[in-house]
Amino acid sequence: MRLTVLGTASHYPTPASPCSGYLLEHDAATVWVDAGPGTLAELQRHRDLTGLDAVWISHAHADHTADLLPLYYALAFGDLPAREPLPVFGPPDLRDRLLGFFGAGAARDLDRVFAFQSLADRAGAVIGGLRLAWEPVEHDVPAWALRAQAGGVSLVYTGDAVLSPGLTAFAAGGNVLLAEAGADRADGSHLTPEDAGTLATRARAGRLLLTHLALGLEPADAIARASTHFGGPVTAARPGDVVSVDPLSVAVPTVEG
Ligand SMILES: [Zn+2]
Ligand SMILES: [Zn+2]
Repeated sequence: MRLTVLGTASHYPTPASPCSGYLLEHDAATVWVDAGPGTLAELQRHRDLTGLDAVWISHAHADHTADLLPLYYALAFGDLPAREPLPVFGPPDLRDRLLGFFGAGAARDLDRVFAFQSLADRAGAVIGGLRLAWEPVEHDVPAWALRAQAGGVSLVYTGDAVLSPGLTAFAAGGNVLLAEAGADRADGSHLTPEDAGTLATRARAGRLLLTHLALGLEPADAIARASTHFGGPVTAARPGDVVSVDPLSVAVPTVEG
């Protein structure tokens, strides 16, 4: 299994990074996880849009969903070959939110290109060789964490969440824990770097990959703070990182700029 980091920024994209977004791949299966602003362009540095098998959205905040808007335009009106509707796993109100932007008259086209599946209606799915499972987490809107398993390894992504027994149990034993650190100090809706380290320790993660750092939080400081609570490897995700998810995972930057 392989993780490609498309973006990590909090709140708004910068020239250095889109907001939250990742590609998860195993064999021929490709799943786009969170569609933060800027990630659609970054995705196309790595993969053709025709290669997407599914989209998985952790929650409806715009820093995780906004690029579903241009994805719709690309699939509905772009020069891409016709395809079956793209499965979009997300919060229950995601379709209605998108229709709010496009207008009710777009409903037919929206359902022609996207096949919405509510994360509230089921607990997992199999996309090619990728087994996905999800679990509700505590955030200020309905939100879910994701576990992806393939080839005997697993990656857990917190989405946006606070530390909770449910999240700890769900994250148990992941080879890679991709954890947000969107709070510099505890804010009731995001993990701090210390929380991410604590989660990694309690879940016995193989390694901790920090992402979605709070504005102003330097990666080196976030790593140092998380490392006071976790003895395993800690790094901060950067756009272009390609992480091989295995028992001895390493991050390798592959895309310049
Ligand atoms: Zn959020
Ligand atoms: Zn967020």
